[in-house]
Amino acid sequence: MAKHILIAAGLVLAAAPVLAQQSWLTASEASYRILRRAMPELSARGSTAAAAGGVAGAEPIYLLQVRTSSIARLSQLIHAELKHCGGFMQHPDESSGRRALARHAAPIVPLALRPNYEIGNQALVVPALASMGEKPIAQAIQDLSAFPDRFYSSADGARASSWLRDTWAALAGKHGNSTVELYAHAGYGQASVIATIGGSDLAAEVIVLGAHLDSINISLGGNKSGAPGADDDASGVAALTEVLRVIAETRYAPRRTIKLIAYAAEEVGLRGSQDIARAFRQTETQVVGVLQLDMANFKGSPKDIYLLSDYTDAAQNTFLAKLIETYLPSLTVGIDRCGYACSDHASWHAEGYPASMPFESALSQDNPHIHSKRDTYANSGNQAAHALKFARLAAAFALELGGSGP
Ligand SMILES: [Zn+2]
Repeated sequence: MAKHILIAAGLVLAAAPVLAQQSWLTASEASYRILRRAMPELSARGSTAAAAGGVAGAEPIYLLQVRTSSIARLSQLIHAELKHCGGFMQHPDESSGRRALARHAAPIVPLALRPNYEIGNQALVVPALASMGEKPIAQAIQDLSAFPDRFYSSADGARASSWLRDTWAALAGKHGNSTVELYAHAGYGQASVIATIGGSDLAAEVIVLGAHLDSINISLGGNKSGAPGADDDASGVAALTEVLRVIAETRYAPRRTIKLIAYAAEEVGLRGSQDIARAFRQTETQVVGVLQLDMANFKGSPKDIYLLSDYTDAAQNTFLAKLIETYLPSLTVGIDRCGYACSDHASWHAEGYPASMPFESALSQDNPHIHSKRDTYANSGNQAAHALKFARLAAAFALELGGSGP
């Protein structure tokens, strides 16, 4: 008898932690295949495979239930093979996971409002871009990659949020109509950082510039052996910091509200940006344009800027190409695809907001050092000239959309 009780107790104990620490993921076909190879017992709890035929070009995605404790390892497996960020979205519970599946199969209707994408702010934009420089971006990259790691659940990851909040607050303080705040997330210590430049007559309409604050080391030693994340994604955060500096110093007064967001927990399933995008959608906030900078300082390809065509907005991508032609005519533009949940723009896209992501190179030629202790400023060539191109594009995007009418 006792023995039976013991055996029964053992099974319950084994089950208890599994039940208590569950997480739900949506993953691309490629990611699902990678995970199945490592965990043959893993089986999808849902997918859009059946519906894929419905939405032109939609790749099937899979809903997975996994132990929360295995997420870092899953992320390692996916990143090691896909060689770029993302590849899966993590969801707080089953219903959020099923909502993501449903949205993927039948994308929601975007909020009606569209900017006119006209370019007409040359008098403001040209001097602003000229006043931007490589040096402050290089400094911010080195300051951020000086943290031993910026992992979403580590003490240093949380410290990086406070450091960035203070750094942005010092810059934004010169503006006069701006705020900088931490945005806390459930379940981990790293907060996202949000700087807001208040709008005027169109203040209810919001422009979002984003990059992710967290870093990860997927090698065996894990984050303990260092995750400087100089290119992934200190380069994006540093570019936004330079945009904030120029907006604050010119005391630019936009018609629309501009938000610069450094997201937490991108590397472990786009957790920070999903929280924020969903909150904006639930309050029906009119986000008229989202730009993501994730890896902007490693020039691995002949062309300067690669616009990603999947999980982004075609009309807004065309607008970005026009901004480059107008304000950065010496730069060359390429097009590429990145796959499901490639970076935080995907969280906004999933909520029906127009999103874009200009990338540092063709995907196949991106920075080989990412997600390791080798992702240093030195391994990006001790330069920030490449990231400056993206900072200027982001500034032109904000200054044109911020000032133009509906
Ligand atoms: Zn990244």
